[in-house]
Amino acid sequence: MFEFKILKKNKNLRVGEFTTPHGNLLTPELAFVATEGEIKAIPKDILPTLPINLIIVNTFHLWVKNIVQTLDTRNWNLDNDAGSLKLEKNQASNIKLQNPASNFQHQASKKFTIHNYSNFPRPIMSDSGGCQIFSMGFGKAHGVGKVANMFPGKNIKYSDKNNPLEIDEEGVTFPFNSQKIILTPEKSIQIQEKIGADIMFAFDECTSPLNSKKYTKEAMERTHRWLKRCLLLQSADANLRRLGKSAEGGGTHWSPANSASSDKQALFAIIQGGYYEDLRKISAKFMAKLDLPGFGIGGSLGTTKDEVKSVLKWSIPYLPEEKPKHLLGIGQVRDIFEAVERGVDLFDCVIPTREARHKVVYTKHGKVQLRKMKNSEEVLEKNCQCLAYKNNITMKQLYQLFLIKDPRAFFYATVHNIQFYCDLMKSIRQAIEVNKFTRLKEKYLQYY
Ligand SMILES: [Zn+2]
Repeated sequence: MFEFKILKKNKNLRVGEFTTPHGNLLTPELAFVATEGEIKAIPKDILPTLPINLIIVNTFHLWVKNIVQTLDTRNWNLDNDAGSLKLEKNQASNIKLQNPASNFQHQASKKFTIHNYSNFPRPIMSDSGGCQIFSMGFGKAHGVGKVANMFPGKNIKYSDKNNPLEIDEEGVTFPFNSQKIILTPEKSIQIQEKIGADIMFAFDECTSPLNSKKYTKEAMERTHRWLKRCLLLQSADANLRRLGKSAEGGGTHWSPANSASSDKQALFAIIQGGYYEDLRKISAKFMAKLDLPGFGIGGSLGTTKDEVKSVLKWSIPYLPEEKPKHLLGIGQVRDIFEAVERGVDLFDCVIPTREARHKVVYTKHGKVQLRKMKNSEEVLEKNCQCLAYKNNITMKQLYQLFLIKDPRAFFYATVHNIQFYCDLMKSIRQAIEVNKFTRLKEKYLQYY
């Protein structure tokens, strides 16, 4: 089902086409963030009318907000104890299968998928929960993002202490609503299978740029072991489905090697290793040996934007060229151009929609702070295809709507930024096709 074709290639630049059960996805492409299955400020009935080709939902939030429990994507009952799956002895020996699905209340025979819930008919991704290990863990303790944004040469204080989360071999314990909840690799896969997104990610530990090398290495090795557990469980689940089929139509055999992408969901692994050349190479080489449908590049990406480029240089050449690569959580215009130039195919980022809600609109002539344009009678961008332009919304008018917290403010700013990013990604694909990427990059980077 999942196939990645490279349609055009010029050095590391490429236009690809990823086949999914919900249509073919042209790359490079950006996934818009729909944390709880919805993009903030966008009514669900509007979503399919927007030019969005890909969204990413958040496993942790769908789970703790009890949304995933209302979905049903499979015929067989998720309440089956995963521990009862028939694994080959040598495959089961290294893992402890808990009963990761025991929290689910299965709704018999009801088919209601994440695509129904989101009202989005095109491809959907789900993250693994690894992002929350960072944002609720060391990211919070250190007060930093994935790129620490510090000046090079500044005295950086590394620390591996005071993680608000408990992380051990088994999984991660999160404090949530005065309770403790545990996410393990198996549970992450079980939840993601229930979500039923076209692309899912293996459970990983995303470290902070301010973790020590020693800790980053330990976390990377743990992520590798967790990946094996994700693959084993996914293989076992695929096996169970096939066994179900075989009961009607004869026996089938399976092997873990070919089941990393089931017929409905592709599992991407996530490379870790922080801003350490040797660790990134080890992680990429480890992942490259596995027959996976795609790869994520995750974790901390250094202390400056320039260091992100190094992380890509240490990772991408060691991964199979013919597979899609996703740079997790990055989406500033400049970063997209730099990463595409280094072979990245997919992105996800909250920036377009989050910044819209903070009165920032993206235009071909740079980012605009609406506060600074509060008296402007100009539209956000001339000849834009978005609903803000179609309704002749001016900067002044939009700013006024923000002042009185009118929901239309969030809506118009969000649909405009979405249109900007969709147009940007389409222009990038077109420019690669006609060998004009550098010209396009120069045009945008005058302002970004
Ligand atoms: Zn617009």
